Parts: sequence; structure tokens; C-alpha cells
Amino acid sequence: MINIALDGPAGSGKSTVAKMIAKKLDILYLDTGAMYRACALKCLKSGVSVKDESAVEPIISNIDLKIEYKNGSQVTVLDGEDVSLDIRRPEISMMASDVSALKCVRLKMVEMQRLIAKNMNCILDGRDIGSFVLPDAEYKFFVTADSKVRAERRYKELIERGNAVEFESLHKEILQRDYNDSHRDFAPLKQADDAIVIDTSAMTAEEVCEKIMSYIGRK
Ligand code: C5P
Repeated sequence: MINIALDGPAGSGKSTVAKMIAKKLDILYLDTGAMYRACALKCLKSGVSVKDESAVEPIISNIDLKIEYKNGSQVTVLDGEDVSLDIRRPEISMMASDVSALKCVRLKMVEMQRLIAKNMNCILDGRDIGSFVLPDAEYKFFVTADSKVRAERRYKELIERGNAVEFESLHKEILQRDYNDSHRDFAPLKQADDAIVIDTSAMTAEEVCEKIMSYIGRK
């Protein structure tokens, strides 16, 4: 079984690169951020604040969340409905960061992630894959980039999808999410001690992919 952990902050290029690598190696790509986004959407639909742990806990412990694959792409299914597009809404990003700080939410999602990784060859992108979810993964990478570069990437992505966003507020939100994700008590955004760090600020996705593939080929 091959497991590749690809961690890093928002906009570091993880998902683009993870998709490319999954295709090259013909393995599964699991976007773990989508799972926390689905938890945030579930709270929103249930009218519960993502910061209220006692209210969130019963909702998330019974969540009907499935990760499926159609034509090689991940489909996030919540309560039987495909929410893959819905969870990308900009207002869900910050809510996902808040809800993901709750231990009850992380334990539930991590359990699902470990189960998928145990049964399938896959590359997982997230914040704590190498440091917490799969500490024994054979390959661990931590990608990062200057926050302005990351905000620019996210800005382009959202504009292309037709979302109306403003660059400065997006940059602020990314900085806030970085802070939240790396300062939460339980399983924060963290570079595993044995991860290979790649600064992608001045690199194209193809270059990052090549670099990662060169490490994989070396082992
Ligand atoms: O990767 P993405 O930006 O879609 O993730 C949304 C949020 O989910 C992040 O800001 C982070 O708070 C949370 N997350 C996490 N652990 C992961 C993946 C995502 O806490 N493994």
C-alpha cells in the first residue's frame, strides 16, 4: 500500500499537485479539506454555530458524509446530495477552519481518512496528514508559499469559478486561516519532522509535481 501525505497551508498548490500525482501514479486522491468543508456546510444547514462544540458534536457524530469517485474525481456527498461545488463557496472556507479546530470533528474525520488510506493506494492532501493522520506514510511532503502568492492563486481560482471576491479580503482570510490552523490545540497545521519541504512561490504546478515525483522515484 502506498500512502503519500501532502500538507501545507491554504493556496500552497496542494490540491492541483495532488491531482497530478494521483493521475501519474494511478492512485486515489483524497482531498481532506473537502471533508471539513462538508462538516461546516452541515452545521450551516442545521443552523448550528461552528464554534459551539456541544451543539456541533451530535451533528457531526451522525453525519452522513461519503467520499465517492466519478471519472477519477472526488465527489463529496452529504446527506445523499453532491455538495462538491457548494463547499467551495468562499464563506465556507473560514467556517471549515473554525469547525476543524474542534476535537470531536477531527477525530471523526481522521477515522474516515485512516480507513480510506488503509485500503487504498492514495495521496492525501491536508494540514496534519504527515504529522497526525498517517505518521507512518512512506512519503511526506510539506508545500508552502508566500501568503500573497497563495492569495493570488485562490483569487484566480475563485474568479474563474464565477465567485465575486476581493483580493485584499481574500489575503486577510488566508492569513487568518493560517493562524487558526496552526494554533489550534489538537492536530494543528504542522510540518512533520520527516517531511520534505517545498517552497512553491516561484514554481509552476508542473515543476512541483516533477520535484515530488523525483523523490518518489528515488526511494
Ligand atoms: O484545504 P482547504 O482549504 O479546502 O481546507 C479547508 C479548511 O479545513 C482548512 O482551513 C483547515 O482548517 C481545515 N483542514 C484541516 N485539516 C485537514 C484539511 C483541512 O484542518 N487535513
